[in-house]
Amino acid sequence: MKEFISVTAQKARDKVAFDKLWHNIQQYESKVKEGKKQFKDLSLAKRTAGHIKQHALDHLHNYLKRFENIAKRNGVQVLWASNSTEALKYVDDICQKHSIKTVIKSKSMVTEEIGLREHLEQRGIEVYETDLGELIVQWSKERPYHIVTPAMHKSRDDVAKIFNKRLGTSLDSTHEELVGHARKFLRGVYQRADCGITGANFIVADVGGIAITENEGNARMCFSVPRVHIVIAGIEKVIPSLTDLALFFPLLATYGTGQWITTYNSIVFGPRKNDEDDGPEHMYVILLDNGRSRLLSDRKARVAGRCIRCGACLNNCPVYQHIGGHAYPHIYSGPIGKVIVPWFDDSLGYVSFASSLCGKCSEVCPVEIPLHELIQYNRVRYQEEHGSILEALGFYLWAWISKIPWIESIIPSKIKSWAFSKFIGKLWKPRKPLLFPKKTFSSIYKSIRKR
Ligand code: SF4
Repeated sequence: MKEFISVTAQKARDKVAFDKLWHNIQQYESKVKEGKKQFKDLSLAKRTAGHIKQHALDHLHNYLKRFENIAKRNGVQVLWASNSTEALKYVDDICQKHSIKTVIKSKSMVTEEIGLREHLEQRGIEVYETDLGELIVQWSKERPYHIVTPAMHKSRDDVAKIFNKRLGTSLDSTHEELVGHARKFLRGVYQRADCGITGANFIVADVGGIAITENEGNARMCFSVPRVHIVIAGIEKVIPSLTDLALFFPLLATYGTGQWITTYNSIVFGPRKNDEDDGPEHMYVILLDNGRSRLLSDRKARVAGRCIRCGACLNNCPVYQHIGGHAYPHIYSGPIGKVIVPWFDDSLGYVSFASSLCGKCSEVCPVEIPLHELIQYNRVRYQEEHGSILEALGFYLWAWISKIPWIESIIPSKIKSWAFSKFIGKLWKPRKPLLFPKKTFSSIYKSIRKR
């Protein structure tokens, strides 16, 4: 926690990083405004999407079994991993079985979550990210800055320097030229890769399919060129039906990047059939739990499983906007990170405190997750586990007094300041001591109204 506080303090003062992030967020905002215009009734679309996801979560077992049965019939091998160690072991076994030497990957937060790339590289397997943003962060030896736009913190100059170092290209390359350099480099990689690893935007239960949406066509190359395709997906990604994609694809496109629809939308049903010309010879789907069951089994917190990883809550969060994605102790950053990470890793419960609880995240979420309420819920859970009785008493007393303005107004400000620092001061650090003003807000308000 101490490290988190010191890193955030340092990041919050980084004006250069802030300017780059702010520039990108402004562009995102204007595009999203346009994207939203495609919905005749946006609130109905959000409500419906939230309801469909919630229904899938409430009947998770049934939908996952349905997916498994149909996918198996299509020739897919479905594997269940309860944690990252099991998921990595499955990948190791597959790589060994098929003598995999080179892996290409499309953007997938779940593979970041389990540390897949580093794990495979340690085993001597060549791994290449094929999403441009992911390739940039791979070459920078960084982790993704954002769940949708991993290199959001990089300017053209930054990228030109990275490419110059890796590919010897000109420092003056334009945006288009940089994309061209990456494309040329990746073509060679696609041709020699034995295995493609992707995530899943949605697991489609009624057809046993994996839905993947992307803008660069690189994920398509990952699951159609190499002879083995591995999908790693969190269990909460399931949706009941293929027809649900008619809502989820445009909704994710709009809230993720401001598009009406993402450029490439694919549904993968299994390995190549005898009468087909392309596609992998073998396809595996690893369904990952890794703390999700814990989150989903909590009645209040389950709603967080609706998340479609659009990134809107990050872009709109005043805390994320100031500290950026690398300050967080886990790859899931921003409001959704503060909600789910404490369920995945007990030792990171403190991230829930890095929030202003302004509620903007809940307002923008396309699947209506009450994020700020869940952050508050995590705080209470954290305090119950880690807080002292003195702090709990202090909070109760404070909450009680705040509800009765006349009591608050008769307690001298010096006593309030002393009591606050005595009972809750430890939690308030590293901020400056809180000194209560002589007049309370309600007394000032009353005197103004009387005038
Ligand atoms: S919580 Fe909502 S806004 Fe945030 S990434 Fe998930 S779907 Fe998007």
